[in-house]
Amino acid sequence: MHFYGTQSVNGKGHLTIGGVDTVDLAQIYGTPLIVYDIALFRERARAFKETFKSAGVQAQVAYASKAFSSIAIYEVAQQEGLSLDVVSGGELYTAVAAGFPRERIHFHGNNKSFMELQYAFDEKIGCIVIDNFSEIALVKEIAESRKENMNVLIRVTPGVHASTHDFITTGQEDSKFGFDLKNGQADEAFRQLHDHPYIQLLGMHCHIGSQIFETDAFRLAAEALLDKMESWRDEYGFVCTVLNLGGGFGIRYTEEDRPLHPSAYVDEMAKVVLSMTRSANYPMPEIWIEPGRSLIGDAGTTLYTTGSMKEVPNIRTYVAVDGGMTDNIRPALYGAKYTAVTANRVNDAHEDKVTIAGKCCESGDKLIEEAYLASPSEGDILAVFCTGAYNYSMASNYNRLPKPAVVFCENGEHRLAVRRETYEDLIRLDLSLQAVERGAVN
Ligand code: PLP
Repeated sequence: MHFYGTQSVNGKGHLTIGGVDTVDLAQIYGTPLIVYDIALFRERARAFKETFKSAGVQAQVAYASKAFSSIAIYEVAQQEGLSLDVVSGGELYTAVAAGFPRERIHFHGNNKSFMELQYAFDEKIGCIVIDNFSEIALVKEIAESRKENMNVLIRVTPGVHASTHDFITTGQEDSKFGFDLKNGQADEAFRQLHDHPYIQLLGMHCHIGSQIFETDAFRLAAEALLDKMESWRDEYGFVCTVLNLGGGFGIRYTEEDRPLHPSAYVDEMAKVVLSMTRSANYPMPEIWIEPGRSLIGDAGTTLYTTGSMKEVPNIRTYVAVDGGMTDNIRPALYGAKYTAVTANRVNDAHEDKVTIAGKCCESGDKLIEEAYLASPSEGDILAVFCTGAYNYSMASNYNRLPKPAVVFCENGEHRLAVRRETYEDLIRLDLSLQAVERGAVN
């Protein structure tokens, strides 16, 4: 059994997170419940920042908040001196509601709307990461009509294929994101942006994919971007001050995953950039990164209550829980694998091989195909590990299941970070035809 961060087992044989008994949490807040180990999130943030500091490299570590976006986590990110990567007007709105320092907000996305870009200007955010030619035109139009400045990065695809799931690779040529580095698109984007009166081009960005366990792909990407930076300097006399190498550092979902320590990725990046810039006599740029999963993935655990069980003789036993693909779509979407423990009897032998199924009306709604539990019975509390990234943020109301609550645990204390949805919440946007006919609704 592998525990993460502050997870432990107390005298009752219950799993604890941040010093808090998870069985108590299930009773207080109900299940499904997503529990965050906030000390682990802080530890990871500090490790990234510290590694840059020891390498003597100016850096920004931006939390890729698509992994989990909420006011409370943005508050913790701010406390830790992180920057923030947002990818929509909605994430930006959440950051604004959290009072996040605007100058440390970076705005991503492959199809930002005119309204979203105007919102970014209204809030005077730190940087827009420009993804395509339509966006260049929109940003120019807004900057010129308002006569307002905006920092930008050009997002490029460096043609590096990181070995991970196809749906989460983004650095290869055939990607919906960014300008191709090799076929002239990135150069054209540069020409359209570099000497604009209101647009400050800071440099380049790439994100080569997610759940990557090796440093080679990051080295190759950094080399490709640095080559291009040198060519722009040589041809146009332009010097990039920022090199953003994205996120994507892998974490341990199951024992098959062998992630490196966060410092290993950052060390390699710093080494490559320092040595290449030195030998090209290029001023050392700031390095920005934007980890999501490696900051928050293993800090999250989902608690479920077990319900019905079904044995299919000689095939498998299904143990159903009170959540499923609505709070964790990743197994159905990517074939993602997880591990679980019987949180109310952690010390018992986990020898019963079962399939943990969700409660949605889809045969594919299985959270773990092969889980080993302690002789499962109805009413157990199951803890599924490593559900902190791309779980709540991808949650849906399929089958009209209310979204779970989210709780932060730290130093023996727990506090609600996102309240559980109610049935009233589920119908708050619905309009009754009768009410519309009566003119009671606009
Ligand atoms: N940056 C960009 C542009 C991304 O698209 C993503 C993930 O999709 C991330 C950062 C974060 O990736 P990860 O959570 O794997 O670190």
